[in-house]
Amino acid sequence: MHTTPTKVIAYIGLGSNLENPSEQIHSARAAIAAVTGIAEQGFSSLYHSAPMGPQDQPDYVNAVMAVTTELSPLELLRALQAIENSHGRVRAERWGARTLDLDILLYGEQVIELPDLTIPHIGMTEREFVLYPLHEIAPQLDIPNKGKLVELLEHCPLAGLKRL
Ligand code: ATP
Ligand code: MG
Ligand code: MG
Repeated sequence: MHTTPTKVIAYIGLGSNLENPSEQIHSARAAIAAVTGIAEQGFSSLYHSAPMGPQDQPDYVNAVMAVTTELSPLELLRALQAIENSHGRVRAERWGARTLDLDILLYGEQVIELPDLTIPHIGMTEREFVLYPLHEIAPQLDIPNKGKLVELLEHCPLAGLKRL
């Protein structure tokens, strides 16, 4: 018997601060949408944000993408890491400058705690460059174990975040 794979809605956070960040984000969007088993459902505006962690690096461009996917959470992580690598991502200093960062923010309503994968993404509830773009495309969201997106936003200053 043929069973149809279940589709889950996932949200992906995109960030870049090297080598034409806006272009990196547009190119990553196309690469993600082209993966077999992933279909784009929504994409936020691009935002300009101050760096987190080390301050001696350029500002970031960020966005959030909504997809439906038939990939498992770990398959999705591997697919996104392959796209990071193909965009020249080099892993050096923690939170250091990068051509492309792709983080899985949410995977359906699942809570996942694996050595390589924490969902909801660990920092998302305090990060303005995640919450504001996410709200733009999914204002009604509840974050598993964290509460309503609108309420998280009330406690999250813009910290210089600018919509491009
Ligand atoms: P942060 O995770 O705080 O945003 P970062 O994105 O710069 O920092 P990376 O170097 O991109 O961190 O990733 C470090 C590790 O985080 C990866 O090897 C990956 O296994 C792990 N990881 C855990 N949860 C997630 C997730 N939800 N999405 C992406 N990577 C994750
Ligand atoms: Mg990140
Ligand atoms: Mg990352």
